[in-house]
Amino acid sequence: MATTSSFSGTVGNTPLIELTRLSRALRRTILGKAEFLNPGGSVKDRAAKFIVDDAERRGTLRPGGTIVEGTAGNTGIALALAANERGYRCIIVIPDDQAPEKISLLQTFGADVHVVPAVAFAEPENYYHVARRIAEGTQGAIWADQFENLANRRAHEETTGPEIWEQCQGRLDAFIAAAGTGGTLAGVSIALKVRAATLLTVLCDPMGSALYSHVTSGTLDVEGDSTIEGIGIKRITKNLAGAPIDRALRVEDREAIEMAHWLLRNEGLFLGGSAALNVVGAARLALTLPESSRVATILCDGGQRYQSRLYDDAWLRENDLMPTSSGLEFL
Ligand code: PMP
Repeated sequence: MATTSSFSGTVGNTPLIELTRLSRALRRTILGKAEFLNPGGSVKDRAAKFIVDDAERRGTLRPGGTIVEGTAGNTGIALALAANERGYRCIIVIPDDQAPEKISLLQTFGADVHVVPAVAFAEPENYYHVARRIAEGTQGAIWADQFENLANRRAHEETTGPEIWEQCQGRLDAFIAAAGTGGTLAGVSIALKVRAATLLTVLCDPMGSALYSHVTSGTLDVEGDSTIEGIGIKRITKNLAGAPIDRALRVEDREAIEMAHWLLRNEGLFLGGSAALNVVGAARLALTLPESSRVATILCDGGQRYQSRLYDDAWLRENDLMPTSSGLEFL
């Protein structure tokens, strides 16, 4: 392999991992796109790179400029690295209910981090609105706006989706993923449907999100709650709007956490909660398809980011989420 350049050159082209023990147990092949191997450690590196490239191309981001974003953490981490590589300042607004590991990474990377109370989107103090106001009031700043900025979805339409298709050599029956902004789910689904119109595209939604009800009945109803970070939303973003999604299923936190621990013990993969939730969704979807079917999903980020929560006995006990399964009986 030839050499490549710093942050931007190392984003994407991640392996597609066959989860061999899970696949054997299910008699269907489960494939996970290893987004935790991106340089910033998550699927959001792709969106950040496309958003920054797009702003530079449009001329809204100029030398000495500032990138501002409201984020659950991963987009901020990716933007902070892109900003360092290209010589921009970076201001990140993050709600205070996110894992401390992500806040600490943002500080280490040199971002100007504003931790704000986790309040509903309708509140003016929600991290999204705070970020917009900071960008509006800062000379030479852009607001990355990952929820509405279609450069996010384009990253997945032009890179993640085509990579998955090539890595599968055209042998893929379904794709499933949870949505935060919806960029990954929509972008990959668009790319795959263009290549195989009959391929099934599926949303897996955590509790506390309105997207399951959006896909199944066209409403925005919410049931229950979730502690899984980076996914679940109660509104339709521009990045998600119009995406070709065939079906939806819901996954409980308890199942995602059982899967996170199962994957660590049985596949040697140390993953975050949304990745584990995606694998539960992929497994459950695969079981509705004929034997030997092939289902792909996204392994969004790694477990280190959540070690003090999803992999900490005290936190798990406190949240009544301690895994109890020895095998896959939770599926
Ligand atoms: N998992 C994690 C851990 C994330 O941070 C995000 C982004 N918020 C997602 C999944 C969802 O990605 P997207 O924004 O493309 O829907």
